[in-house]
Amino acid sequence: MLNKKIKKLLIGTNNKGKFKEIRDLLPKNIKSYSTSKFNLKSPLESGKSFKENSLIKSRYFSKKTNLICLADDSGLEIDFLNKKPGIYSARWGGRKSDFKKAIKRVYTELKKKNKSWKKKKIRARFICALSLSYLNQKIACEIGKVEGHISHQPKGKNGFGYDPIFIPLHKKKTFGEMKSSVKYKLDHRYKAFKKIKKFL
Ligand code: IMP
Repeated sequence: MLNKKIKKLLIGTNNKGKFKEIRDLLPKNIKSYSTSKFNLKSPLESGKSFKENSLIKSRYFSKKTNLICLADDSGLEIDFLNKKPGIYSARWGGRKSDFKKAIKRVYTELKKKNKSWKKKKIRARFICALSLSYLNQKIACEIGKVEGHISHQPKGKNGFGYDPIFIPLHKKKTFGEMKSSVKYKLDHRYKAFKKIKKFL
């Protein structure tokens, strides 16, 4: 089963932004399925790292559907906040995954730490762990990162999550201001995907 070319793949996420991005990265000969088609809730993310959480998701969704599953666990690390929100990036948006709330929390925490935070360059990175599992078996698990900094205010309406406050290294625009086709080729998910592609 695992040595054959994959024809059907479940994209193990309930996050619409991630689903769209991963679906667009997949080779066209692979038929992709979403978790919403199976009416599946996400598992509890009890791991201590992006890799652990991504494996929890890919194993869980694969067992529920009997399909090979590609799952992502990702988030934003802000150096000035001791790498927070990190694996808790989604939780900063509260129960309803309200991204505006999550962004507000970033600015509140920066201000709490230092009122003059805008005078500094606030280094940050997005990290993504992508894992591929069939039932309980891990096929592969890879990490991708994109370095950058936090903008002084949210900019742009594209993308999802923390995209409006993240400016990748050597760029002037936030991910939220970029076209999705441009963001996809620069980001953490794409970098992780390049490493995992050979297993598909
Ligand atoms: P989780 O992997 O489901 O725990 O959620 C990761 C969270 O990190 C998302 O809900 C977003 O808030 C954030 N995140 C991950 N990747 C991106 C991205 O590409 N752009 C913006 N925010 C992201």
